[in-house]
Amino acid sequence: MSIFKILWAPWRKEYITKKEKDCFICKKLEDDPQNDRENLILLRGKNTFCMLNLYPYNNGHLLIGPKRHIGDINSLNDEEIIEIWRVASKMIDIIKKEMNADGFNLGFNLGKVAGAGLEEHLHLHLVPRWSGDTNFLPVLSGTKVISEDLKSVYDRLRRYLE
Ligand SMILES: [Zn+2]
Repeated sequence: MSIFKILWAPWRKEYITKKEKDCFICKKLEDDPQNDRENLILLRGKNTFCMLNLYPYNNGHLLIGPKRHIGDINSLNDEEIIEIWRVASKMIDIIKKEMNADGFNLGFNLGKVAGAGLEEHLHLHLVPRWSGDTNFLPVLSGTKVISEDLKSVYDRLRRYLE
C-alpha cells in the first residue's frame, strides 16, 4: 500500500460514505451479488463493473465504470483505464455475436451540460446500434422505444460472462 493511500484513506472513507448514499451505482455494487440480476449487474471485475442501463437508449445499453466512487476522469488509475477498455471490447464482441448489432456508440457524459445524470460516479455508456435505428441524437435524448425488456437482454448477455 502506498503512503498516499494510507494518508488519504480516513478522509476518503468519510467523504465517500456521504456521497455513496445517493449513488445508484454504489448502491447496486454494495448489494449482495446474489441480487445482480435484479440490479442488472452483468459483470463485477477486479476494478470495474458493467451493468445494463435501467433507462436504455437502445437494447443492450451498458454502463461500464470504476468500482471506486470517483467523478473526475483524471482520477482513473491505469488499472481502471485498461479494465474499462477491456470490458467494453469484450461486451462489443458479445453484443455483436448475440444481438447482431451493426455498430456502437461509446462515450462519457461529463458534466450536467453534457447530459450526465450522475456526475459523481464515472461511467462509460456503450450503446449498440442497428442499421435503420434512429440517429444518434434521438437515441441520446431518450425518445426511442425499446423493444426488448431488460431482464431478457440481461439473460442473453450474462451467459457469455459466467
Ligand atoms: Zn458511486
